[in-house]
Amino acid sequence: MIERTLVLIKPDGVYRSLIGKVISDFEEAGLKIVALKLVKPTKEVALNHYPADENWYNSLWEKTKKSFEEQGKQFAETPQQTGDRVRSYLVNYIVDQPVVAMVVEGNEAIANVRKIVGATSPSKADPSTIRGKFSTDSYDLADSQQRAVRNIVHASDSKETAEREIKTWFKDEEIVEYKRADEDILY
Ligand code: ADP
Ligand code: MG
Repeated sequence: MIERTLVLIKPDGVYRSLIGKVISDFEEAGLKIVALKLVKPTKEVALNHYPADENWYNSLWEKTKKSFEEQGKQFAETPQQTGDRVRSYLVNYIVDQPVVAMVVEGNEAIANVRKIVGATSPSKADPSTIRGKFSTDSYDLADSQQRAVRNIVHASDSKETAEREIKTWFKDEEIVEYKRADEDILY
């Protein structure tokens, strides 16, 4: 089914001049960019984009804990502690920094974009994914430097988050409907 999802090229991706390559990966897969802008987000937008949501905190904590334990390291934080800490890294990271925001549309766009983006930790991401081919950063390195994992892109993780995140970044009239020239053969 045709869906829309929100993608951000985070400041590391913008500073490393990867905007074109990231967008190409989505376009080449048959996904359509229906909204696009380069902005320096306010604190309000950053906090709305990364709300202190219990489910998100739990999944983020589980991934971080697993990664530490795989390396034989202890991980003693609670989900609340990890979530609050990482949330503040993320907000500080994007506020007033250049970020490209886009809405990507296509068949099962939410899951397909996550597949193209790859795993959260670039060191674990498949090398054919955006995070795997453009970065080697990892949870433990980021945590030791008290900063967010630099993994180039953000992508919505579910229908509900996609809807909320698109509204956080775009007004309805900023989303442009058009037909790709190859759409008849794509679907
Ligand atoms: P994803 O971006 O793959 O959906 P999450 O939603 O779990 O991953 O986390 C959001 C972002 O927070 C990640 O993309 C990454 O930049 C950062 N992050 C997650 N866990 C940590 C951590 N333990 N330390 C530093 N940054 C983290
Ligand atoms: Mg996420």
